[in-house]
Amino acid sequence: MSQTKIPQFQLPALNGTTLTLSPTAKYLGVEIDAKLFWKINIEKRINKAYMAFYTCKRIVSNWGLKPSIIMWMYTAVIRPILTYGALVWWPALNKQYNIRKLNGIQKAACAGVTGAIRSCPTDALNVILHQLPIDFFIQKTAAIAAIRIEELGGWNQQNHGHSVILNKLTINKSDYILPKLDFNRHFQVRIPSRREWRRGSFAEEGTTSVYTDGSKMDCGVGTGVFSADLGISLSIRLPNSASIFQAEVLGIEKACEVLLENHGNIHKATIFTDSQAALLPLSSPMTNSSIVHNCKRALSSIKDKLQLNLIWVPGYRNIFGNEKADELAKAGAFLNESEAELIPSPLGTIKGEINRQFQQIANNRWKNITKCVITKQLWPTYDRKRTNDLLNRSRKSIYRITATTTGHWPFGENASKMGMPYNDICRGCGVVGNKETIFHFLCECPALAQIRHKTLGIHQAPNLEWISTKSISDISSFIETSK
Ligand SMILES: [Zn+2]
Repeated sequence: MSQTKIPQFQLPALNGTTLTLSPTAKYLGVEIDAKLFWKINIEKRINKAYMAFYTCKRIVSNWGLKPSIIMWMYTAVIRPILTYGALVWWPALNKQYNIRKLNGIQKAACAGVTGAIRSCPTDALNVILHQLPIDFFIQKTAAIAAIRIEELGGWNQQNHGHSVILNKLTINKSDYILPKLDFNRHFQVRIPSRREWRRGSFAEEGTTSVYTDGSKMDCGVGTGVFSADLGISLSIRLPNSASIFQAEVLGIEKACEVLLENHGNIHKATIFTDSQAALLPLSSPMTNSSIVHNCKRALSSIKDKLQLNLIWVPGYRNIFGNEKADELAKAGAFLNESEAELIPSPLGTIKGEINRQFQQIANNRWKNITKCVITKQLWPTYDRKRTNDLLNRSRKSIYRITATTTGHWPFGENASKMGMPYNDICRGCGVVGNKETIFHFLCECPALAQIRHKTLGIHQAPNLEWISTKSISDISSFIETSK
């Protein structure tokens, strides 16, 4: 095999001076280095974020803002500075030192909110304050950015580099397509006024009527198609990710199919729907939804065969056909999801799914962590409601609850580990052998049995997991009353 020699790169010269190469270049605010290590970029992002953080902190101490507002400042102002351009540089997260540095600022913010001491681990604070670990958050930001670019048709999926971000997730195909224009309309869309509806129904002599409806319920999503004229009742199941809009549009498409199958006997037909949201995009010349596009194609394939009207029917009136379609749609929603018609997901659903999947991997990491023994028992999982309950309390109360539930405060054994003055035996009961631990304090100490009973409903708790089932306000009143 012959070897190719790469010729030496000649540095360019300007006015007799040889120019030197710069180790980095800035493009759209992202620092790009020659080897794509992103070290300089990450450092710059962190410095900017710290600058914003200290500015916010000054405002906070001047105005005495509530802890929930400080948390909001971090997530809305500071973290976006940190994650800027994440889509291109997220692969740098394979280096632990990059994660550690990025983590520093999240930890500083979380500690600012809770007043937690330095030794308190970031993982514990992340769960207590319902924050994704920063490396997951950056990947999530990158994934959502990739989806947004995919929407615009500019995403180039490859199997290496930053573009593998979407391979990490199991996400459905998106309903989004590049906007398609179609000026030929082959059907009439009518949205009659309420007064017209009061004058009478629009089901004319010699016209075949088909009613469609969509339904989204807790159990699932369904579409119904009903025609007394053709003797047809259809219930269709859609995936749980489908929107009510998709269910309505799919109903109209199915109605077209039914009409096409029976077109021999039909000259004029009307499809009734109670969804104006579905009718409007069907009558517009442009669409960026594949489901709307397919429905328009079905509508136009009818044009040579029969004369078609689409009419909006008010859902609140007792129109027999519409009520039947509604019943059929609900029956469709009750069918098993495994029977669902495969349709692409709306973009909003996909973004929600990305959030859910990163939350799940964060929860798994928390479950498998070996340190944070006390916090893992008292905050077994990410719980948005518990975090909100905590953040709505006073600064002092948040500090005490965090300190107790992480075990990181100058207290008995921990104080001794931190090299601070400590008590060998519990100051409450004074019983020899009863060490001052979080477990003894929260669950066991006999001197606190009365207070424990009054606030938590039990004289002695079996373990810390039992305490974790109690509300934040109950745990807080136990801590406050016991001093
Ligand atoms: Zn005790």
